[in-house]
Amino acid sequence: MSTRKPATIAVRTGIESDTQHHAVVPPIYLSTNYGFPAFGEVPTYDYTRSGNPNRGLLETALFELESGKGAVVTNCGTSALNLWVSAFLGPDDLIVAPHDCYGGTYRLFNTRSNKGDFKVQFVDQSNDQELEAAIAKKPKLILIETPSNPLVRVVDIEKVCQLAKNVGALIAVDNTFLTPVFQKPLELGADFVIHSTTKFINGHSDVIGGVVITKTEEHAEELAWWGNCIGATGTPFDSYMTLRGIRTLGARMRVHEESSAEILSYLQTEELVGTIYHPSLPQHPGHEIAKKQQSGFGSMLSFEFAGSFEDLKYFVGKLELFSLAESLGGVESLICHPASMTHRAMGEEALEEAGVSQNLLRLSVGLEDATDLIDDLRQAFEQTRTQGAR
Ligand SMILES: *Cc1c(COP(=O)(O)O)cnc(C)c1O
Repeated sequence: MSTRKPATIAVRTGIESDTQHHAVVPPIYLSTNYGFPAFGEVPTYDYTRSGNPNRGLLETALFELESGKGAVVTNCGTSALNLWVSAFLGPDDLIVAPHDCYGGTYRLFNTRSNKGDFKVQFVDQSNDQELEAAIAKKPKLILIETPSNPLVRVVDIEKVCQLAKNVGALIAVDNTFLTPVFQKPLELGADFVIHSTTKFINGHSDVIGGVVITKTEEHAEELAWWGNCIGATGTPFDSYMTLRGIRTLGARMRVHEESSAEILSYLQTEELVGTIYHPSLPQHPGHEIAKKQQSGFGSMLSFEFAGSFEDLKYFVGKLELFSLAESLGGVESLICHPASMTHRAMGEEALEEAGVSQNLLRLSVGLEDATDLIDDLRQAFEQTRTQGAR
């Protein structure tokens, strides 16, 4: 296992690995198939659905970053989650998932459980009683998403893993929000790490991808078999692009976080901002756990807009440097209204239960200059206060 720091692993994986031309950057292999050296001699790669050099390098980079033993790169984060449940759950098995998980994850688990593929229970994992009651039902799998989307709630990974081990459950942590730069779930007791590499891992908002990283080689083999079986694996081009994006992961995460800290300070002075959700804030209920299990607070944040819904829409429309769009973790700053965008598939009741209000706005702080970002927020709030939609 590499003892190197994430930024170094991110930059160096696969560099100078080309034995044919000694290309410093590993070349892309688009071929769908590979020749058999001789009759009956199966090559390392035979067909791209089951394996490809670029996907292999990306898998190595990702499992080394997470201190795992193997990985399966998939064509999106959702298919990584789908691969994981497909491999381990049958009709009588239960998965316990967070009630405020990513909207697409909620839809996937809910829809498949309604078809009878497996059973699902959504719980507030920061509520000990609710969590323990769910674990007492002996789930086969537990999914943790911390910090959660969009409320940035923090779940104690080590504690849940201990409870889960008592009933033999396997645990995956969706580490999309922090990346291994700020959080290493396998070291805290998890069995799997899942990412939507679409977000910070690729970081440039130009590739959809995902990964399941495993703590053991056995699980990696099992998942690779399933990935090939259900056709969930990622393409060579996407893998090439994602590895290119990963090169700057360490540097990007640092700037994302520094800028979000500056934005947080500013938001606390703004009268149209109500509750702010970010684990770096001492009043945030997950602050202490975050300090314990994370090496950085991360840059995703959300806040309640303290004005009318009409004013909220007006404010969003006045922003110039925050694009109104879904997704997160790219170089460009984004603003999202979870209730009508990323989380709309949940329906009103589930949204309310998860605490996602109509006034909630989520920011993905990008890599523009932080002063420009703050100036932009300030002018939009100012216009809303003075003109607004009233
Ligand atoms: C985006 C996201 C997903 C889904 O990933 P896709 O690449 O969009 O399929 C899953 N979990 C979290 C936390 C996400 O942000």
